[in-house]
Amino acid sequence: MRFCIVGAGFSGAVIGRALAEAGHRVLVIDTRKTVAGNCHSERDVETGVMTHVYGPHIFHTGNERVWAYVQQFGEWAPYQHRVRAVTGGSVYSLPINLLTINQFFQKAMGPEEARAFIAAKTQKFDQPANFEEQALNMIGPELYQAFFLGYTRKQWGLDPRQLPASILKRLPLRFDYDDSYFAHPYQAMPKNGYTEIVKAILDTPNLELRLGARFEDMDEKFAHVIYSGPIDRYFNHEFGRLGYRTLDFETFRARGDFQGTAVLNYCDEDVPFTRITEHKYFAPWEKHNFGGTICYREFSRFCGASDIPYYPIRQTDEEAMLNKYVGRAKAANGVSFVGRLGSYRYLDMDVTIAEALAAGDALIQQIRDGRPIPAFFVEP
Ligand code: UDP
Repeated sequence: MRFCIVGAGFSGAVIGRALAEAGHRVLVIDTRKTVAGNCHSERDVETGVMTHVYGPHIFHTGNERVWAYVQQFGEWAPYQHRVRAVTGGSVYSLPINLLTINQFFQKAMGPEEARAFIAAKTQKFDQPANFEEQALNMIGPELYQAFFLGYTRKQWGLDPRQLPASILKRLPLRFDYDDSYFAHPYQAMPKNGYTEIVKAILDTPNLELRLGARFEDMDEKFAHVIYSGPIDRYFNHEFGRLGYRTLDFETFRARGDFQGTAVLNYCDEDVPFTRITEHKYFAPWEKHNFGGTICYREFSRFCGASDIPYYPIRQTDEEAMLNKYVGRAKAANGVSFVGRLGSYRYLDMDVTIAEALAAGDALIQQIRDGRPIPAFFVEP
């Protein structure tokens, strides 16, 4: 069968390769001149530093299949992500761990004492209904106000009571001194950047890559389309625009070190940006090679029609709109929606790859069995 895959990010590349290896003919298109979607990375000409062009992307997974898969396409170097956060004029360690708690409350508690101390501060909700309730339930008001309230308002442009509890559930609370941002056993960075990995995934017989091409302008016929662009765009926004946050990066360069770590969050609301990323720290094996450094000051705002969508907001009214698009997609023939934009979900890279591998398996089997290809492999 001849497939068109719209979008050359991880979803499109992984599914495209699976189909091509199964003997189908695959055309992968992307409006951009680069592959890897928002994971795209390239060396900064002035400093030589590998730069995460669309903001920091840190690979971490507990999925053996995904870990084995990505290693086939390039070299990966161990990278443990650590985040520091500025609040009220001091720097702390995130996610909240025993060091954060002891420094913030100026104590020297052990794990059990700290656990009881925090428990006494929390407000219990059986089913936290929103981000704020989840925070009060988990860490109590002081830590919530210092680390989450201002940052979250800046990041999402909403009051935390309007946001789902699931956003905060991404972060752990630890009563030991483990300050690794992620708990997964495999954490690594591609030595030559994500773009090289995605290029290698796409480099296979039966697969043609066409960059700078818009799906709207295609007049070729395909047996099936796999669409990893925004689902509302596919349907010409007929039910309205799904809400996203977009990011603006203010790039600056400096001599030597700027901040001494990869990511420094700024939690106070009167600081207009959310965080500063110093890219050379994502490649600790080469960070001393450079005299200069490149940094991004990151600002979040509502995504307009001509902006790049980053974070799906998924407020209640957007969920209702999404359901209309899902119904529309299921009624349409010949197209499946995948990935973060296709299913309007926050997805880490490893989850994106895991879902794309599973979608590839399902597709190949469905075609072999002569069964119809569904609109979604994972329900949005
Ligand atoms: N968050 C916060 N303060 C921080 C870090 C995170 O309030 O210093 C909140 C914020 O709402 C964010 C969420 O926790 O959207 C999840 O954080 P994560 O680090 O997963 O965000 P990402 O790196 O995906 O932007």
